[in-house]
Amino acid sequence: MEMKKVLVLEDESSIRSFVVINLKRSGYEPIEAETGEQALEQLKQNPDIKVALLDVMLPDIDGFEVCRRIRASDSKIGIIMLTAKAQEMDKVTGLMTGADDYVTKPFSPAELTARIDALFRRTGAEDPQEDKGELRHGPFRLNTRNRTLEKNGERIKLTQIEYSIMKLFMDNPGRALSREDILNAVWGRDYFGELKIVDVNIRRLRIKIEDNSTIPTYITTVWGYGYKWGF
Ligand code: CA
Repeated sequence: MEMKKVLVLEDESSIRSFVVINLKRSGYEPIEAETGEQALEQLKQNPDIKVALLDVMLPDIDGFEVCRRIRASDSKIGIIMLTAKAQEMDKVTGLMTGADDYVTKPFSPAELTARIDALFRRTGAEDPQEDKGELRHGPFRLNTRNRTLEKNGERIKLTQIEYSIMKLFMDNPGRALSREDILNAVWGRDYFGELKIVDVNIRRLRIKIEDNSTIPTYITTVWGYGYKWGF
């Protein structure tokens, strides 16, 4: 299987290792760089890098300059800026023409991989397995063609509603979804049922997919709001 290479430009080694570990866990092959110059060199040596994560504050040239130089020769690569401060975010907004997306530190692994996954989809760089209609996250593999779910390679039988909830979650990793959001997305806006139907289905889904449904770790509760897919 072809690896999906992601450039990780970050001078702080603790953040870089955190990103690298989580990318590996999600099936990506991280290529590390500590400085802007190193990043440009890595890109030259690895023309198959499809997505680049660029920190803004660097010891040599800043991340925006790196972004500009990459864009000068490559329009297809996906670029995500890693920003630390609100001020940096303003600059990023101004530079959105060069970068595709940005993530503000501190970020969760789920948030970061969701952004990278989205870029891989948009840049059409998915591996052939994902082209067949697959969503993957941790031990889960959702086949969107035949609407089936596997956990660690084992099929989990789902109802159509449960499947739709799983699809919604896996399309929105790390994002808190209100019970209304879930109801509207899965049952449709014309459905005038009670929100409780959402809770009941989530409870059932948890029994099927969680390691221990009384201590859910995949579908977590956002108190007074709804649910979140993330781990
Ligand atoms: Ca930095």
